[in-house]
Amino acid sequence: MENYSFFMPTKVIHGEKALFDKTEEIAALGQRCLIITGRSSARLSGALDDVVKILNAGKITYKHFDGVENNPSLTNVGRGGEMAREFQPDFIIAIGGGSPLDAAKAVAVLATNDIEPKQLYTNKFDHLPLSIIAVPTTAGTGSEVTPYSILTDPKLETKKSFTVPELFPKIAILDWRYTESLPINITRDTAVDALSHLVEGYLSKRATGMSDVFAKSGIELWGACKKALTTGTLTSTERDNLLVSSALGGMTISHTGTTLVHALGYSLTYYHDMPHGRANGVLMAEYLRFTEKDAPGRVKAVLDLLNLPNIDAFQVLMDDLVGKTPHLSQGEVSAYAERAMQTRNVEYSRGDVTKAVLENILKESQG
Ligand code: NAP
Ligand code: FE
Repeated sequence: MENYSFFMPTKVIHGEKALFDKTEEIAALGQRCLIITGRSSARLSGALDDVVKILNAGKITYKHFDGVENNPSLTNVGRGGEMAREFQPDFIIAIGGGSPLDAAKAVAVLATNDIEPKQLYTNKFDHLPLSIIAVPTTAGTGSEVTPYSILTDPKLETKKSFTVPELFPKIAILDWRYTESLPINITRDTAVDALSHLVEGYLSKRATGMSDVFAKSGIELWGACKKALTTGTLTSTERDNLLVSSALGGMTISHTGTTLVHALGYSLTYYHDMPHGRANGVLMAEYLRFTEKDAPGRVKAVLDLLNLPNIDAFQVLMDDLVGKTPHLSQGEVSAYAERAMQTRNVEYSRGDVTKAVLENILKESQG
């Protein structure tokens, strides 16, 4: 019998109009709220309107930082931090995909600690971060239930996460309606990110009996949506399933972390501007082929849960949803593999992961 612990302190409120279910709990967080969003999705999705209604009803004063970029940088979250220090909010409501949700975690720390954004990576803060209510509008990152914030550091030329347990949002609102405005390409990219969390978590060396429960039910729910993702027509039930599977993926990686797929994918995003989920998806079939040698039973379980006969069928699905890795020069392949080798994600991967293995995954996944 293995020893493990499980910690997931976020209150998840799920369902249509879930935001209106616990308004008294939101009001209890304070009288001043900083809303953090990207440029347009919070409005487009209808979530911002709902949040503002609740804040107005509770007579909560608010300010809106709507400048979060995709894959937010240290400089970007620094600007949010400045607004927070001026406004002195009691809590934060973050609305959007993983980018605004992760940025909000950084701002929650910068609001209460007099530090430079780059010091976020130290994971040591004198004061507790502000409480966050997370309202996801993509079904992908699961950031609403993780203690991670992933920020782009142009000096390191990659993305890097910081984490403290207090970064788990206080409340996560899972309302599928906010994902309805997503264009199909972002629906697919983000869904594939959710799948990569579930699969990487399940295949991680750090997987436990408890994380497996979340990973396996998430993969199964996701699998029920694969046809809809391919055709591009999703029902409300499928959108809801994807949002729940994304949260299950977040709960999984909160305990296991991600693996070599994410470590390599960061370079595809940084240097080739590939959306985060797509950058994982193009690598996943090769990752399964590599991991199968070490953990055939687990890889088979993933395929069974997805109702796919073999890795080739998985490859066809990923090709349909996200395409292939772009052509990379030998220099790029070597540099990205080298960078990934320096991450903990690689340590968490099963099998004997060497630089040559990572180079092979990058090469074999190209179109
Ligand atoms: P995103 O970068 O947050 O958003 C991608 C695009 O989708 C943006 O242009 C956004 O518009 C738009 N969008 C979002 N919701 C929409 C909606 N409902 N309708 C229409 N457009 C919408 O994408 P993401 O994949 O969700 O997040 C990626 C980030 O999360 C990366 O930085 C990644 O590293 C991070 N991540 C974090 C974790 C974690 O545990 N914390 C895990 C995995 C990934 P706006 O710009 O207007 O918002
Ligand atoms: Fe991810």
